[in-house]
Amino acid sequence: MMIFNSINQMGGRAAVSFAPAMTGIINIYLFNWFQIDVIVTVEPCIMCSSALHQMKVRSIVYGAANSRFGGCESVLDVSTIHSDSGVSVRGGIFADEAVALLKRFYEGTNLNAPKPKTKKRKLDNDNG
Ligand SMILES: [Zn+2]
Repeated sequence: MMIFNSINQMGGRAAVSFAPAMTGIINIYLFNWFQIDVIVTVEPCIMCSSALHQMKVRSIVYGAANSRFGGCESVLDVSTIHSDSGVSVRGGIFADEAVALLKRFYEGTNLNAPKPKTKKRKLDNDNG
């Protein structure tokens, strides 16, 4: 069995999230975890990666690395903590395509996406 992440509408805000896939897994715990291959666009975060290792899914396959939250290699390799899980992890599969997909998603192809907020620079109080 394979579970994919997807682009979801959540409360009027669009989100590319691994969480719905996790929710799906948790809601349907009728099958054996070791038969599940989790295939996602972006490297799961530390928390999700740890959960998947504890569930002992068969494999985690992802495209783009997640340099901010990645739990397979980028921030922390949780397989070093759950070394007995036997989970196969492969990253960087179609990484360029995954990044392009995310960029396209966040660059206006989703009309329901929130408007990007421009940060106002706080001006220093120097008159020099
Ligand atoms: Zn996560």
